Order: sequence, then structure tokens, then C-alpha cells
Amino acid sequence: MVKITPIPAFQDNYIWMIQNGNHVAVVDPGDAAPVISTLQKENLTLDAILITHHHNDHIGGVQNLLKEFQTQVFAPANESFDFPHQAVRENDLIQLPNLKLNLSVLDIPGHTNGHVAYYGLNHLFCGDTLFGGGCGRLFEGTYEQLFNSLQKLAALPDETLVYCAHEYTEHNLRFASLVDSKNPALINRITLTKKVRASNTPSLPSSIGLEKETNPFLRCEDQTIASALGLQASDTITVFKTLRNMRNNF
Ligand SMILES: [Zn+2]
Repeated sequence: MVKITPIPAFQDNYIWMIQNGNHVAVVDPGDAAPVISTLQKENLTLDAILITHHHNDHIGGVQNLLKEFQTQVFAPANESFDFPHQAVRENDLIQLPNLKLNLSVLDIPGHTNGHVAYYGLNHLFCGDTLFGGGCGRLFEGTYEQLFNSLQKLAALPDETLVYCAHEYTEHNLRFASLVDSKNPALINRITLTKKVRASNTPSLPSSIGLEKETNPFLRCEDQTIASALGLQASDTITVFKTLRNMRNNF
């Protein structure tokens, strides 16, 4: 049985730990210390490190983990890294036999040019591209790229569990309610998220189905959202662009 738990890091990062028995893989270890202490405490073997993109809060712990453990690192082919790794791209399949898990690689550029996601067994590790109720900032790519990447993730089965790299859900949902205030699924999610966060429990994983119902960045074709922005006559990309720019200042 694959079990997935968050290792909190920095202010709001989650380093997701994928575990089967004593074997684990970690996604985006921005900091080595909390990973090392978790592995030692539970006597776990680190089989792999999976990197979604090159930002330091996602890779900052890799060098120190490699000093402690002999392990394989997978990182996007379209970005450069100063640690040894296997470059991965769309359609690659990562086999983790000790975890009884295969993960396929999806290219999802936008937040950064080479950003990838890892997807398998109904689990999606999407780094800083899709967040609970929101999406990542555009640092390197174009609006079209980020929009298409989000659409690619939205096309995964509704029951897919979504493991984002930051706890941004509550703030994102507050933003979502500016443009989609009457959406009952959104209202319900805001209530549940508040409750969960009040007890300091992660709001994640989310699911693709829930994101499609409540995340405005996946709902740019919805007339309610376009109308709230005064963009009834505009195309979907314009709605997306406007939303993303508004969110930058929210
Ligand atoms: Zn990032």
C-alpha cells in the first residue's frame, strides 16, 4: 500500500513523502533537515527524489540529502541542476519497484519553462502549477502555456488526488469567492477548508474533480466568472490572463 504524507518545510511548503513499507520517495525537498529527521526517526530508505522544477524552495535540500543517502534523483529535462540526476520529460515512466509504483511524467510549463508533474496510481504531484483553489505564478512561460498545462491536469480523472507544493488553499479560495461567490461547491469548500486549517491540518490533497468545481483558473469558460470580470465577450485565455493578474495583487 502506498501511503503519502506531507513533511512541512519553511513557511508553507509541503515535501510529499511517498511510502511503501520502509521505502520512500520524496517530492521537491527544498530543505534536507526535516526529511532526514523523518527518515531516521522511522528508519526509512530513500529510494528516489523527484523534482518538479528548479526553484530553490523545491531543490535546496537535494545536495545535503545526497551526502546522507545514496539515491536517485529525477528532474525535468528542460531545466538545469547542479546535482547528478536523471532528466525526465513527457511520456517518461519512472519505475520505483520497491514502492510498487510507476509514475509518468507530464510536461506542464508556465510557472517555469521546464516544470513537470508526476502522476501514477491516482496521485498527482504538480509542484507549483496547480494549487488548492488556484495556480502558480507565471515566472518564465506564457499565459497560454500555463493555461494549457492546467487544462492537461484537469483532463486527468476526477478522482485523481492532487498534491501541491504549498499550503495556499485558504487564500486562493478567498480570491475565488470574489469572482464565483454563488458557487455552492466553492462555498462548501471554503467552510471545510477553514475548519481543517483551524486545526493546522493540511488542506491537501485535493482532487481534480474538486478543483474543476471550485478553482477559478480551471473554470475560465464559466460565464459567471467571465461576467464577474466584465469579460462576457472575451475568449477564455483573456479571462485566464485577467484572473492571474488580479491574483498577483490579491
Ligand atoms: Zn516555484
